[in-house]
Amino acid sequence: MNRLPVPARVLKVALPVPLPTLFDYLPASGGSQAAVGARVLVPFGRRKLVGIVVETDAVSRVDPGRLLPAVAILDEGQPLLDAGLLKLLTWCWQYYKHAPGDVLQTALPPALRKAETRLPGPPLEYRLTEAGHNRLEQAPGRAKSQFALLSELAKRPLSAASLAQTGPRWRPTLARLMEQGWVQSAEQAREVPRVSPGPELMPEQVQAVRAIKQSAGRFQCHLLDGVTGSGKTEVYLSVLETLLSEGKQGLVLVPEIGLTPQLLRRFRRRLGLEPAVLHSKVSEGERLAAWESARTGRSRLVIGTRSALFTPMPGLGIIILDEEHDASFKQQDGFRYSARDVAVKRASGLEVPVILGSATPSLESLNNAAAGRYQWHRLRQRATRAAMPAWRVLDVRHHTLFSGLAEGTLEAMGETLSRGEQVMVFLNRRGWAPVLMCGDCGWHGLCGRCDAHLTWHRGIGQLWCHHCGFQQRVPAFCPECRADALSGAGEGTQQLEQVIQARFPDAPVLRFDRDSTRRKGSFDEQAEAVMEGSPCVLVGTQMLAKGHHFPEVTLVVVVNVDQSLFSADYRALERLGQTLVQVSGRAGRVEKPGTVILQTCQPENEALAQLINEGYEPFAQAQLEERVQAQLPPATYQALVRADAHKRDDVERFLKAAKRCFPAGKASLFGPMPAIMEKVAGRYRMYLLVQARARSELHRQLDSWLDELRGLPAGRKVRWAIDVDPQDL
Ligand SMILES: [Zn+2]
Ligand SMILES: [Zn+2]
Repeated sequence: MNRLPVPARVLKVALPVPLPTLFDYLPASGGSQAAVGARVLVPFGRRKLVGIVVETDAVSRVDPGRLLPAVAILDEGQPLLDAGLLKLLTWCWQYYKHAPGDVLQTALPPALRKAETRLPGPPLEYRLTEAGHNRLEQAPGRAKSQFALLSELAKRPLSAASLAQTGPRWRPTLARLMEQGWVQSAEQAREVPRVSPGPELMPEQVQAVRAIKQSAGRFQCHLLDGVTGSGKTEVYLSVLETLLSEGKQGLVLVPEIGLTPQLLRRFRRRLGLEPAVLHSKVSEGERLAAWESARTGRSRLVIGTRSALFTPMPGLGIIILDEEHDASFKQQDGFRYSARDVAVKRASGLEVPVILGSATPSLESLNNAAAGRYQWHRLRQRATRAAMPAWRVLDVRHHTLFSGLAEGTLEAMGETLSRGEQVMVFLNRRGWAPVLMCGDCGWHGLCGRCDAHLTWHRGIGQLWCHHCGFQQRVPAFCPECRADALSGAGEGTQQLEQVIQARFPDAPVLRFDRDSTRRKGSFDEQAEAVMEGSPCVLVGTQMLAKGHHFPEVTLVVVVNVDQSLFSADYRALERLGQTLVQVSGRAGRVEKPGTVILQTCQPENEALAQLINEGYEPFAQAQLEERVQAQLPPATYQALVRADAHKRDDVERFLKAAKRCFPAGKASLFGPMPAIMEKVAGRYRMYLLVQARARSELHRQLDSWLDELRGLPAGRKVRWAIDVDPQDL
């Protein structure tokens, strides 16, 4: 360490490069001192990069003579990220073992990653002048739209965002009003919520609201475990109502598909304010404006998806995570953080309460609630009093399937459509793994060493255990009944849409998946069409299980249940339970209860029977016990080293080298083994699995191992990354 001449301070800067370190710079010559949390422009090789000052220090590991000065301090040295947030982000890169620069980038809106972007000034609001009020006294005349806008503004001043809600042609109308001197703009004041009373709460809701409010001002995690229709959102709103009126800010995180116009409308109406909306489909400019408005405390409520978690909010008083079990809260590439876990960490650092809400809580959260670490609030009464649908398990052994659908299923679909009702065909994709099954007796492969289900790797003709790495050749006949009936479970579902359309030519078939709903707003347009209620068939994946309620759907068909029952991914069964409960909650209403058909080769499966007959909580409890017995998370802690390359040999060579330098300790290492989806976009993917009984043991070994891994020559031929607390294999 070299000491610098006083008073020069070394800036430790996080830069958007994939290196596990901060970089040292001197302050810009002649410029102002960069504050911690501010953006700086610095030279890096031949480029100039935008970085964030994470700390300043009197010493540097670099020879002071070789230190370069920053080119410029951006944003006049205003810290964009406060000390608490920087501390949280520092914890994140140490815990998830990811490059600090990349982690800090996640916390910034994309526009601020560019040096030329400046922070926007305070937004304007529009108010009526004296002359404007006088104009309102007179008859509207022919200028109806001008008059309407004047009357709106007479009630209260409005921001551009609120004006946009009044209609499409507000801009020219407003310009006309300003020309006349009837309206003037001014810097927007801090938002004040104007709460409208909500519905009367049921006793369970009252209890939850009271307990959550009592924890205001200190850290407490609340698990709001409420069946579909039990009014979880009303609990959030009641808590927010109190905290916002006390001058605090609120942060609400929802899954990627959960941020619907209906949800925003509900928050807007009930709390009487304009939420700052942060997610990837909002334009860069709007996102920057929303972020800045939260950072300066002007916006009182932020609603967003995963990365909105890192929004700076000086008055943050509560964090709410809706559908906490949802897999989209875990980022699946780059900085692989869990927004749920980091939200709890952020709340604990700020000493504020956090609510995790779900109709189907994750096993991790149930485990924490059972251990008393979280307060557990159960809502079992349905506010809507809609009946739960009836389940029908359809044994499809010995049946011909038409692109995944049995004849019995198609008949039921036909009956529903002819009654003028709607059908939803649900393709379960989460935890999906290719499984080899016997179509006659329902046999599937189990690992002899650890009872995990074997995954079929068709390309290499092998069955693999993804837990311990056991492998065997694919048998020619069913080992159980000797039938020549082995095939992949749930195959051919890609053609599902065509088969349905051919069978029911008069019914519109609407597809809901990532491809068909990528365009902004297209999901909502399709959903609106379904709401109109004429008979149709909805075909879709997980996104159908979230957010929307389709009251005219009275038949739900779940096609590929077996792939989850036998998935190598130990979370697949938990996910299946969550999905089935969520999907069934979307269908039917009071007068017309729905039916859910589950097609399976395993009609006697115990977990499935328990879910259907006893409900989610006993099912989840049994799953949790199995995890403890099998020594799987949340009873243990895991990390993966994932690697991929165009050549399988390169991947295997790197992971074998990595395995050889794994330090001795209490954590165990399994693999290398192929990823469940081994080949994606021409690249072979494999992994090593590290597992330990305690988090601290896992991290101690990982930290010393990672330094060695970064130096391995075999690592240069592959792309590799570490995934702490992985959610899939
Ligand atoms: Zn068989
Ligand atoms: Zn095994």
